[in-house]
Amino acid sequence: MENEAHIQSRSRIQDYEPIVGRSNIEELRMLAEVLGGKIVQNINSTFVGGGVAEILEHMVPLFNQLGVDARWDVVHGNEEFFEVTKKFHNAIHGGDEKISAEDFALFSKVTQQNLEELRFYGDILIIHDPQPVGLIAKKKEIGRKWVWRCHIDASNPDKRVWKFLRGFVVDYDAAIFSAPSFAQQLPIRQFLITPSIDPLSDKNKELDSGTIDSVLTKYGLTSDKPMIVQISRFDRLKDPLGVIEAFEMVKKSIDCQLVLAGGTATDDPESEEVLEEVRKRAEGNHDIHILLISPGSDIEINALQRAATVVMQKSLKEGFGLTISEALWKAKPVIATAVGGIPLQIRNKLTGVLCYSVEGAAYALRQLLSNPEYANQLGKNGKEHVRQNFLITNHIKDYLLMFIALAQPSDIIYL
Ligand code: UDP
Repeated sequence: MENEAHIQSRSRIQDYEPIVGRSNIEELRMLAEVLGGKIVQNINSTFVGGGVAEILEHMVPLFNQLGVDARWDVVHGNEEFFEVTKKFHNAIHGGDEKISAEDFALFSKVTQQNLEELRFYGDILIIHDPQPVGLIAKKKEIGRKWVWRCHIDASNPDKRVWKFLRGFVVDYDAAIFSAPSFAQQLPIRQFLITPSIDPLSDKNKELDSGTIDSVLTKYGLTSDKPMIVQISRFDRLKDPLGVIEAFEMVKKSIDCQLVLAGGTATDDPESEEVLEEVRKRAEGNHDIHILLISPGSDIEINALQRAATVVMQKSLKEGFGLTISEALWKAKPVIATAVGGIPLQIRNKLTGVLCYSVEGAAYALRQLLSNPEYANQLGKNGKEHVRQNFLITNHIKDYLLMFIALAQPSDIIYL
């Protein structure tokens, strides 16, 4: 199986000028020049599915256009390995997971295999999330700059799992977290970098109404009544059952329909089971549409987000929640739970509505469905908030500044 991604860039860096302004793009070019031909190697655990793959797919080619030699590899693991790392993922989010000594041993064994199989050619290595965290063992042999990029809400992790992972993290040169509240006490430098969306990708670019309609037709949907949409992997932490409950409460007084659309990720073995649970729960309700979307169907996701009257993201835990910026960029009113990086994107009642429970979500839904003017204003504000903070150009700038900072000795003592 191929380890390294070969991705073609579809957008040119200058195409972003009309969106973010010429000076921002010039600044990126200047910062990239400072790096002087360094290779930036990203390593994560999947080329498809989930936010990390989504970001890398668009960011790697743009770095290359700026003259930074960025590349992307994945670690390999069997199903058991990804079951263990999914438990780690849930445990970092604070979940109560049963993780055995054999699980930890399997993690170490697969890490060892990857250490032997992967090529480590980067001058700067960015290791994403827990699955490949153990690759840091290579640093003793080859040196270079190593950064652990944590995309998960690590503010309240399970102590045992965090202690295990921390053993690896402390050997990195730096760690990146997505929100200030995720930062941990570590003896290494920490950077705050929020994720981002690509406004020119198939997922986010403008679509004509014919394209949107054809996607609706493909899935047997009509826009004859307000459409509430949640796009997410089928994962319990995205609380699809909670969305259905909130929808059913609202449906008693407002005629509307619900679309829960998502796929599965190769590094998420639980998704099939969750999809079944959701299908069962929705059985018999013709206004609930559960759509299984194949990987790479970005135009379809885009069309569903654009067709939405209100977008929901009722996650119980969330890293950043790219789907929120995606919806806000389309000027959609969004209702989302106040977890993880969501409050960075949703300023309550300004760029969307935050909720804390099923009842809260239902209340917000009723409010937005019955007051379209207010809903539209939230969407408009949300779009500007994303333009200022969560576009890929901001993200690239943050990375470039971090690379430059890493090249400098730090005289700060970290605790
Ligand atoms: N996504 C997708 N297809 C799906 C479900 C999700 O392309 O069937 C995308 C979604 O549009 C977003 C990313 O996957 O770009 C999910 O990122 P997010 O940060 O919201 O959640 P994660 O899956 O990383 O927990």
